[in-house]
Amino acid sequence: GRGRHPPTPHKSTTTCERLPYVDPRHVDDDLEKILLTEENIQNRLAELAVAIERDYEGKDLLLVGVLKGAVMVMADLSRHLSRHVEQDWMAISSYGSGTRSSGVVRIIKDLDTDITDRHVLVVEDIIDTGLTLSWLVSNLRSRGPASVDVCTLLRKPEAAKTSVDVRYVGFDIPNAFVVGYGLDFAERYRNLRVVGTLAPHVYS
Ligand code: 5GP
Repeated sequence: GRGRHPPTPHKSTTTCERLPYVDPRHVDDDLEKILLTEENIQNRLAELAVAIERDYEGKDLLLVGVLKGAVMVMADLSRHLSRHVEQDWMAISSYGSGTRSSGVVRIIKDLDTDITDRHVLVVEDIIDTGLTLSWLVSNLRSRGPASVDVCTLLRKPEAAKTSVDVRYVGFDIPNAFVVGYGLDFAERYRNLRVVGTLAPHVYS
């Protein structure tokens, strides 16, 4: 009957011959080193999902993603979860001098959800100084949630200095500027399936 068969692709639809993403091979020249492969990332997110399922068993869970970097982590982590989960997003801008964040933060887009008495898990791409995150966590805690915890794919060494303890960490990485899997340089490279460092020629 109706709906039993997969939709017939429209003639102009891109098919599997040309997948609509940028394969890392196509930007190979821009990456100096691949730190994490697609397999590394997905295997680790699957492990984190198991831990999250165990820790939040019997509880409602709201994942809060921070735009834009956490888009990929949110998409893949949440799909590794075999339980009900809600998603919401915040956009914040962090004022810093140059590339350093200052911890002075402005909300660009707030949550749609009232988090009173809710279990909130903040989903992050990377924690460097942790200043942005520590502002975010105290902002969320002031709203009276049942709990606020943090999951990040990547953590840099400096993050150890902040007071926020991060419950779920994908990978501890060296102190280098990385791109890919949500992380950008001038808005590029977010669509890579890997995480890597940029070759010097990209900056100049
Ligand atoms: P923090 O406040 O922890 O120092 O840094 C917060 C933000 O800085 C991250 O959410 C991310 O947007 C940006 N950031 C920190 N390190 C990197 C990096 O290595 N690569 C990219 N693309 N962004 C980074």
